[in-house]
Amino acid sequence: MIIVSACLLGLNTKYDGNSNAHTLLQEYSSSGKFIPVCPEQLGGLPTPRSPMEIVAGTGQDVLAGRCAVQGEQGEVVTLQFRQGATEVLKIVRILKVTAAILKERSPSCGVNHIYDGSFSHRRLSGQGVTAAILKEHNIPIYSEEDLTEELLQALLA
Ligand code: SF4
Repeated sequence: MIIVSACLLGLNTKYDGNSNAHTLLQEYSSSGKFIPVCPEQLGGLPTPRSPMEIVAGTGQDVLAGRCAVQGEQGEVVTLQFRQGATEVLKIVRILKVTAAILKERSPSCGVNHIYDGSFSHRRLSGQGVTAAILKEHNIPIYSEEDLTEELLQALLA
């Protein structure tokens, strides 16, 4: 089974109430092997919600208690992000997940890059909080931006 960021499969889980529908993933959704998850919703945050960023750190730093996640108005949502990541890890254990395909640059799901917490679209290398917890537990993580049909077929085989 493969975890997929819910917004990539067309669910309207994004902070603004929209999705990040990804054509290739939607084409393969009938494989029956995708588990759509939105860590921010699993952590108890509403939709729509404020845009949120990790402040001057990465998902690994959030998990280690070294930095916070905040909304654009300064509201602290670190606990919800940690809770969402923990819930995704439970799903991994219950459903024998072998990989995750996640939305790039999200503070939860980003695989290669996230934003730096200044809400000015400046990028930082590193993972979001859920991507980081999956990586810590040796679940292979892939960005939708790196996904090819060949890679997807190999993951589904
Ligand atoms: S937390 Fe992940 S799944 Fe949820 S909307 Fe953001 S990128 Fe998509």
